[in-house]
Amino acid sequence: MTADRDKAVATDVAEGVLKVMRTRGISSLPRNYELVYEFLNATNAALVRRFNALDKLPTQAQLDEVGRDFLPHHHGMSAVATANRGASAALKDLIGLFEQEQSGMRSYANLLDQSREKLSESGKASIEAIAHLANLLSSATGDTKKNGETAIRHIVESAEEIAHIKTELSEYKRLAAIDPLTKLANRRSFDERLANIFDSNGNSKSHALIVVDIDRFKKFNDTYGHPVGDSVLCVVSRVMKKCLPNEAFVARTGGEEFGIILEGVDQTTALELAEKIRLQTELTPLRDQRTGADYGAITVSIGLCMADDANNAEDLYINADKALYLSKGSGRNQTQTHSPRSEGRQRHKRLTGRS
Ligand code: GH3
Ligand code: MG
Ligand code: MG
Repeated sequence: MTADRDKAVATDVAEGVLKVMRTRGISSLPRNYELVYEFLNATNAALVRRFNALDKLPTQAQLDEVGRDFLPHHHGMSAVATANRGASAALKDLIGLFEQEQSGMRSYANLLDQSREKLSESGKASIEAIAHLANLLSSATGDTKKNGETAIRHIVESAEEIAHIKTELSEYKRLAAIDPLTKLANRRSFDERLANIFDSNGNSKSHALIVVDIDRFKKFNDTYGHPVGDSVLCVVSRVMKKCLPNEAFVARTGGEEFGIILEGVDQTTALELAEKIRLQTELTPLRDQRTGADYGAITVSIGLCMADDANNAEDLYINADKALYLSKGSGRNQTQTHSPRSEGRQRHKRLTGRS
């Protein structure tokens, strides 16, 4: 028999005892409980016969007589009474604790109430009776514990589910900030990052914004097809990442446009990095991985603006874009810097390649 089954049987017996006591008007004393238990358990045929011979509603004296004959320890002893009181108090505490913790489990609480009544009514109950009662309680407790464990399991499962949902949400959040094709940051996170460059007073540290646009990309797409164009976007993204320090923030801000935020750099460094990107892009051969077909080279035009030369994020982007526009207008494949403090704008001619 399994432990669960044992508990179920014990609980059934407890209910049976209580039912007999109720229907036969037997008061809820521990010694009566024990007597009825022995009767129902039918371990002693003589006891069963004597019990059956009792009136339909036996008196306490009749019950005690049967008890004395078959359950000698029914005669109280002070030590037993003391033990009873200790056990009773302990059980009371336990019951109180369970009741507190398992307030939702009404049937269990009812059983405990009945048991407590019996325990507190008399100090004369035997240790065996107490032990038996404790067994029954422990069986019922087992059920309660099982219910409690189920509840805990549900709580744990819910917690795991919540953790899982949280992980999924953070993954969604991460994906929401990424351009799916190039795996660079997307426009949304670029805008956020750019806004963070300036404090509430419009001040910024020495940061640079570089905007990069692929030259004549429409023509490239038309010639080789959109899928090839897509892989070129990825190639350019890799080139930029390779040319820049790890901490540089690189985003795809539009179709074939990119934005780079460099924090804590001076203009010379920013310009060097922009030129590195431009040159490296031009020098990167574009070949079909499968057929080896040569697509030639592509170039990029670049605009640069330092945060100090702008009032806010929007202004910074507009200035960098103006510089990019100049690069386009001046023949492409070059970097232009927007710098109101210097004499006009600096132009960095392309060194090699086509435009
Ligand atoms: P310019 O040198 O003046 O920048 O010329 P351009 O052709 O690069 O610029 P234009 O704005 O005329 O065209 C941009 C092209 O970029 C149009 C479109 O086909 C292409 N494009 C935009 N997004 C994607 C994309 O996700 N994949 C591919 N393959 N092409 C794209
Ligand atoms: Mg463009
Ligand atoms: Mg373009």
